[in-house]
Amino acid sequence: AVGVIAVVGRPNVGKSTLVNRILGRRAAVVEDTPGVTRDRVSYDAEWAGTDFKLVDTGGWEADVEGIDSAIASQAQIAVGLSDAVILVVDGSVGLTSSDSRIVSMLRAAGKPVTVAVNKVDTGEQEYLTAEFWKLGLGEPFGISAMHGRGVGDLLDDALAKL
Ligand code: GDP
Ligand code: MG
Repeated sequence: AVGVIAVVGRPNVGKSTLVNRILGRRAAVVEDTPGVTRDRVSYDAEWAGTDFKLVDTGGWEADVEGIDSAIASQAQIAVGLSDAVILVVDGSVGLTSSDSRIVSMLRAAGKPVTVAVNKVDTGEQEYLTAEFWKLGLGEPFGISAMHGRGVGDLLDDALAKL
């Protein structure tokens, strides 16, 4: 069976944009309005000769009440069913308490995580990735899902964890 990678993170960080970038087509729904991706949706993907499944999630996006509702969320289910996780954060916003809360849940799930610091659209913005070392999940990868920058290195790391 092919490995499954779940793409998780708080609203509007660019999860669906990243999924579309990896797929090379517009399959996942991208919106300026947070909370659009309600379900977990699985896509067949391929990178550097490796087939895998990629799961776009939005379950955490409706979560404002806290951990109880998040545990029941589709994102939580997706993580449970996955072999590895890409945690997407927003470099243009910086580290938030919601990011840290998601990391706590990922630790409990025990799946290998690769951190994607999205919206690092240029090399000059690469310094924005540094504060995400604080998450304690290893090297944060600065990427631009919108422009494709850094996505190859991110996938190399995530697929090595399958
Ligand atoms: P999701 O809620 O995490 O799935 O986020 P979306 O993929 O729907 O994107 C949310 C918003 O962020 C949209 O307006 C995207 O165009 C924008 N966005 C996504 N990736 C990037 C990026 O790499 N750079 C910039 N500047 N904007 C991005
Ligand atoms: Mg989405």
